[in-house]
Amino acid sequence: IPVASFDGVVFGATGDLTMRKLLPALYYRFRDRQIPETSRIIAAARSHHPEAEYRGMAEAALRRHVPEADLDADTIAGFLSLVTYVAVDGAGEEGWSDLSRLLGERPDQVRSYYLATSPSLYGKICRNLATHDLITPQSRVVLEKPIGHDLTSARAINDQVGRVFPESQIFRIDHYLGKETVQNLLALRFANTIFERLWNADVIDHVQITVAETVGVEGRGGYYDTSGALRDMLQNHMLQLLCLLAMESPLSLDADAVRDEKLKVLRALKPIPAHEIPARTVRGQYGPGAIGGQAVPGYAEDLGTGARSLTETFVALRLELMMPRWAGVPFYLRTGKRLPQKMSEIVVQFRSSPFSIFPPESFAREPNRLVIRLQPQEGIKLEMMTKEPGPGGMRLRPTGLDISFEETFNQRYPDAYERLLMDVVRGNATLFMRRDEVEAAWAWADGVLQAWADRPEPPRPYPAGTWGPTAAIALIERDGRTWHENLPT
Ligand code: NAP
Repeated sequence: IPVASFDGVVFGATGDLTMRKLLPALYYRFRDRQIPETSRIIAAARSHHPEAEYRGMAEAALRRHVPEADLDADTIAGFLSLVTYVAVDGAGEEGWSDLSRLLGERPDQVRSYYLATSPSLYGKICRNLATHDLITPQSRVVLEKPIGHDLTSARAINDQVGRVFPESQIFRIDHYLGKETVQNLLALRFANTIFERLWNADVIDHVQITVAETVGVEGRGGYYDTSGALRDMLQNHMLQLLCLLAMESPLSLDADAVRDEKLKVLRALKPIPAHEIPARTVRGQYGPGAIGGQAVPGYAEDLGTGARSLTETFVALRLELMMPRWAGVPFYLRTGKRLPQKMSEIVVQFRSSPFSIFPPESFAREPNRLVIRLQPQEGIKLEMMTKEPGPGGMRLRPTGLDISFEETFNQRYPDAYERLLMDVVRGNATLFMRRDEVEAAWAWADGVLQAWADRPEPPRPYPAGTWGPTAAIALIERDGRTWHENLPT
């Protein structure tokens, strides 16, 4: 279904995010005829580029980031004809009259202002938009992560943006929420009564969420070193996953109904007492190692500054939710760079049977697990015990009821940005974070960050290509549990 005709202004249009994600996402939506040809993509950045030159840059980005099979010359030409470039200094005066003139040609068009710049510019760009009278009732602003590096700085950004845009026109993007499999969490839980009835502390032993990357900090070390794994991944993406997994059923799929329930989860995050921080959180930093047989350098070398850094590239922790549904159920979260494989998954482990009629050597005590794979090979697997075929007696084995989304639907999975960019034009904020959510997540994360700052310790080293420091394994094994990838298969 086509969206309304729109003017999509992208600030930061010469940057990595625009080239790698936003332009390809818009290209696909144009190719699939979702973007009317009366729409405009108004690329804006500080540097000066003649329009033809910018279109050349945009085309090169498409050729680099979109598979060749999805590109054709006519569609590229049609798409690029929507693209104009304006040099605008978000923080200063230059270029704003050009932008005003351009937008003034179509005053009633839906406008989206995508801020793909450093967050330090968000407030200034918004102030300039207001000063130049560019905010119409049909305008929305899209904010990229990170929204702050702690609660105070997040509030400051939210205040600055909130001075000129009402909350209903602010779209804080967390691209995890645009992933098909993440949205499938809602379907899994609330369209399948079999699971929802089991979704509680009576039946569930614990939950694991893993987001593993094989990449290091190539090229983004400057930013990453001021952030670290907790701020960069856990405080936002992973807590959002936790929300969808743990929340009560919203009354509808309306933006505020869903966000109200997510907010309750964030507010239910139990602060980790300072004295429990050493046992319940693990910070790690990768050293040299190998991934897929390729030698890779350690974090210090990737940073290239020669200085010793105390930033964590891995974090694992155990958290609890103060919600009746989840009383006493631990949630183990871990994320890191330079881990052995790129993989994101949620594992819901059910309680073991307290009593087994099967002999011990039958392996019958393996609990059921629901594994929700976000990547790669998105899908859902229910691990169940079945009898091994053969006359050798009652030997049981875990096997999987396995749904691979790719095989089931046999179609291309759109990138998260495609869905989210179109939702902005539609004005549908269900998959975007509300101010109070962002702040509640920071309020909890600040507690952990503060405890770490109060007792500074260097992160534990782990060789690139391993699952983090051994302390992360101890963190879960101390509770008599095991990370999913270490289980016998
Ligand atoms: P980047 O490559 O450094 O690009 C920054 C962009 O901002 C450039 O286009 C730059 O253009 C423009 N810019 C700088 N100062 C400006 C000013 N005063 N007025 C107007 N434009 C200005 O950064 P990025 O990696 O694309 O990241 C952009 C934002 O997205 C950041 O907030 C980042 O945290 C977030 N993000 C990025 C990624 C990613 O994968 N890259 C992922 C998630 C979130 P000129 O130099 O030409 O002016």
